[in-house]
Amino acid sequence: MSKKNNLLGLTREELQDYLIKINEKPYRGLQIFEWIHNKGIIDFDSMTNLGKDLIEKLKQNSIIEIPEIIDISTSSEGTKKFLLKLDEDSFIEMVKIPEKKRQTLCISSQAGCALKCTFCATGYHGFKRNLTSSEIIGQLWIANYYEDESERVSNVVFMGMGEPLMNTTNVLKTINIMKDQKCYSLSKRRITLSTSGIVPEIEAITGKTDVSLAISLHASNDDLRNEIVPINKKYPIRDLLLSSKNYLESLNSKSYITVEYILIDKVNDSIEDASNLVSLLSDLKCKINLIPFNPFPESEYKRSSHQNVESFKNHLIKNKFIATVRTTRGDEIDGACGQLVGKLINPIGSKKLKKEQILARNIH
Ligand code: SAH
Ligand code: SF4
Repeated sequence: MSKKNNLLGLTREELQDYLIKINEKPYRGLQIFEWIHNKGIIDFDSMTNLGKDLIEKLKQNSIIEIPEIIDISTSSEGTKKFLLKLDEDSFIEMVKIPEKKRQTLCISSQAGCALKCTFCATGYHGFKRNLTSSEIIGQLWIANYYEDESERVSNVVFMGMGEPLMNTTNVLKTINIMKDQKCYSLSKRRITLSTSGIVPEIEAITGKTDVSLAISLHASNDDLRNEIVPINKKYPIRDLLLSSKNYLESLNSKSYITVEYILIDKVNDSIEDASNLVSLLSDLKCKINLIPFNPFPESEYKRSSHQNVESFKNHLIKNKFIATVRTTRGDEIDGACGQLVGKLINPIGSKKLKKEQILARNIH
């Protein structure tokens, strides 16, 4: 990849500082920021209000580069899965989900993931590297501008590949751009950061950002969570819930934590599990999102039966929780985390595939 500064991932303030550094006026930074993130223009020559000399200077020092789009697959209900290439060995995916009143974009923060949750295709294939801020915001840019502009993204969830709180600096930087009133202007409630529970990082972002927080709990006791979410051995449930509560307190009173709970047949889906979850979450202001496990070839887990999912949900509702079941949209295009990339590279980086091979393998 080019050594030139990629302007795509700079916040408005950083772009203005950059312009000062190359002896230009800071307002030029705002103009460039608006070209990129408001008008969807990433070709310097089309930035008509900059003037030829500045454009030449910018070209010498910098680039504006988005990840390469390798493939887009669309499911029958309109969910689109994008496969993006960052460099020769690093691929990520993002998913754009159309709903009645919104367009939700599920983005990746890392190529792969080091945390090895046992039910996760991304974890199974291992860690490659952190994404730069350009590569993270580049996903939102592509979803808005490469695609039909009438389908602008209204909500962003960090639920694609990787653990966002293992790449906190770049994630916070991109959240800053997503919220910027001069461009995407997404409100704090429309951005959700999902974490498997990196407690010191939850503490570190408390007071620094105010986006919605989702925690991937998936078990109601430490023994089981140690097994299926191994980072729990380092940061047990008690600490995770405490840091989540503190994060919540730093927000306004309408906020709540989203608790994600994957439902795996005979692993964590009994009524006893549901009862334990009720006790565990009794003093956390939260909504529980139940996610039926999405199977992938390398995993022996099975999705809970429809009946078990309903009973689990009803038990939570009976105990005054707000509980919803995430409809696993995009199943037919391997809509869940890490599954498409998992099909391409096994494990990530071990084998370089030609573009034609990638496309050939991507037919389901
Ligand atoms: N690393 C972060 C964010 C990415 S994972 C986290 O773990 O929260 C986003 C969500 O997808 C998590 O709740 C994760 O548990 C869920 N997920 C992972 N693999 C899945 C699968 N096979 N089926 C259903 N959900 C899965
Ligand atoms: Fe990583 Fe999240 Fe997958 Fe766990 S569920 S391996 S933390 S991406």
